[in-house]
Amino acid sequence: MKKCEKCRNEFNTLYRVKYLSKHYSKKDWVFICKVCLLIVKPRNDNYTYGGTWKG
Ligand SMILES: [Zn+2]
Repeated sequence: MKKCEKCRNEFNTLYRVKYLSKHYSKKDWVFICKVCLLIVKPRNDNYTYGGTWKG
């Protein structure tokens, strides 16, 4: 199990993405769950998918 960076819940499957511009976040890649992915993805120019993590 691993924690989602956004909602802080634990999941067996997380998605490695970039979704914030560097101006707002020093972190590049973060692991987020599918629910959060669907929230941050639409119309996001900063969104980049980097793989799936499975626990
Ligand atoms: Zn989440």
